[in-house]
Amino acid sequence: MASDQPERAAAPLALVLLGSPGSGKGTQSKYIVEWLGIPQISTGDMLRDHIRRGTEIGLSIAARMKAGTLVPDELVNALVADRISWPDCKKGFILDGYPRTTAQAQEMMRLLTGIGAEEVVIHLVVDYNVIIARMQGRRVCPKCGTLYNAVSRPPQTEGICDLDGEKLVIRDDDRADVVRERLEQYEERTSPVIDFFRADGRRVFEVDASRERPEAVFARIRALLETVPGFSGKEVLV
Ligand code: ADP
Repeated sequence: MASDQPERAAAPLALVLLGSPGSGKGTQSKYIVEWLGIPQISTGDMLRDHIRRGTEIGLSIAARMKAGTLVPDELVNALVADRISWPDCKKGFILDGYPRTTAQAQEMMRLLTGIGAEEVVIHLVVDYNVIIARMQGRRVCPKCGTLYNAVSRPPQTEGICDLDGEKLVIRDDDRADVVRERLEQYEERTSPVIDFFRADGRRVFEVDASRERPEAVFARIRALLETVPGFSGKEVLV
């Protein structure tokens, strides 16, 4: 539609999804990818990929990931710095699971300034008990990474991926003791990131992600983005 309009270099959109483990960042990212055609940058997925491939990075972080503790800031900062320089990030990208510490948030702001990106920060707010229930029912396809949930998104056949027929598994760090550790890490190290953004004069949009189905939460994220001054989904879509 806009291809014959004069080029207007819109600033890349950096959509930052904050929220505790189990808040639905990954699921919402997938909807946004489909809507805007910008890539999802999930530091968790990138780190798991290193582990799967047995890289030096993978070997250095495997124990921490398995225990549900955060991996060093410098490492994720470097991964993100590289990833956002890829051509597919020109119009924007979604940061899912990053930043997770105030040091990462500071570095993120520096990186975004460097590429002229404008951030929109969305905090998916979920009740603690809802998170525990969700994470206990979570299963993942080891082949394609699709997430399922016994309660909110069951596969058509129990225990089997709808897309490729693989047997679903529980991610190592979705086991009960590890979930507790991940939630503690979130409280201690990641929730201050929200205050960091506010103290820095940045707006944090809060979206209640406890009660409604994922599609309804997405509808609210979409409506909210459409109210952000200067944001027009069209700019990202063209
Ligand atoms: P969730 O958000 O459900 O906890 P993720 O897939 O985002 O799951 O992250 C899984 C694990 O990867 C974390 O527990 C942590 O060990 C590591 N990790 C992911 N992103 C970061 C990050 N930005 N900083 C440090 N560690 C991270």
